[in-house]
Amino acid sequence: ILTRKPQNVAVETNPSHELNVVQVDTPSPGPTECLVHVTATGICGSDVHFWKDGCIGTSVIDRPVGLGHESAGVVVQTGKECGRVKVGDRVALECGIPCSKPTCEACRTGRYHACPAIIFYSSPPVPGTLRRYHAHPEAWLHVLPDSISDEEGALLEPLSVALAGIERSGLRLGESLVICGAGPIGLVTLLAAHAAGAAPIVITDLEASRLEMAKRLVPRVRTLLVERGRDAKANAELIKQELGREAKLVIECTGAESSIHTGIYASQFGGAVYVIGVGKDFQQIPFMYASFREIDIRFQFRYHETYPKAIMLVSEGLIDLKPLVTHRFTLEQGREAFEAASNPAAKAVKVQLLDG
Ligand code: NAD
Ligand code: ZN
Repeated sequence: ILTRKPQNVAVETNPSHELNVVQVDTPSPGPTECLVHVTATGICGSDVHFWKDGCIGTSVIDRPVGLGHESAGVVVQTGKECGRVKVGDRVALECGIPCSKPTCEACRTGRYHACPAIIFYSSPPVPGTLRRYHAHPEAWLHVLPDSISDEEGALLEPLSVALAGIERSGLRLGESLVICGAGPIGLVTLLAAHAAGAAPIVITDLEASRLEMAKRLVPRVRTLLVERGRDAKANAELIKQELGREAKLVIECTGAESSIHTGIYASQFGGAVYVIGVGKDFQQIPFMYASFREIDIRFQFRYHETYPKAIMLVSEGLIDLKPLVTHRFTLEQGREAFEAASNPAAKAVKVQLLDG
């Protein structure tokens, strides 16, 4: 650590919707923790929401809180009881830390993302990993092979969301798929669905630039530019035309009510709309349409056991995350980075903060 920058800094927001790069103490790792120099962190939509809106659901910014949970870095110190991870290892940080007690049914049965005692870095009041030095439980560090860069290591977090979606949605080789929304989550879902053999695939968005990125990532994908104000049934008709059929599966990656409606109307009898996007607390759905066509509507909360698979898929070359990073800033440029991530005119897909 002596050869590294001495001062720890963190990017945080507060109840006045300010975004500040602040000096913070460097933590000393507990016996089962490692001190990580975080070298790459992506900005997630939720970080922007916490800054602009001050809350997500029941998670409220009621004091200054550090942001960020899409991080990778290098281990600079290990706690006394650590053994698996070594100083100098490059790691991806899994940011939901469950209790892992055998008395916890969620943890014991392997659905640790459902642990009622889970803490998630960057979910207030727990500070995020968008900082220079961060103490992280060794158990939730994933060692990266040389073939995965720090930037890609940070993208394993959104990729994890997509992998959980691929698994839970029941997507199958050679079956049709519609992805609603081509933001970072829709795009990593596209990459994962392409690797998993979904065909044909249609992806939608309101922004042409995002569909261009989709084409760049997966040239065979079919795209549909959704016009604001066009009704959901009309959008669904256009999707079905692009797809050449009704959808077996729709993976919804916007959380927008109109997009969920579109997904339901684009589905075949017995199809499924799998909702990764999050949105308003209460939403209407075309209930009888879904009922009369046995359309399953299912949801996702984060992920579990996805990092090892994500590392394998990237290191074996089945998924290339690199083109997703469109904007890079230093940690000290935290404010500029958040401006780029929140300003549609910047046409950013993934903004990352890097610290060498
Ligand atoms: P994003 O806001 O960057 O991307 C959403 C995209 O959807 C944008 O490109 C936008 O133009 C497009 N869009 C909006 N309304 C649309 C519509 N009606 N039709 C078509 N496209 C539309 O967000 P993101 O980072 O890609 O995340 C996507 C969603 O997934 C968000 O709601 C996010 O909160 C959620 N999310 C859920 C989980 C989970 O565990 N379930 C995890 C991470 C993110
Ligand atoms: Zn638990």
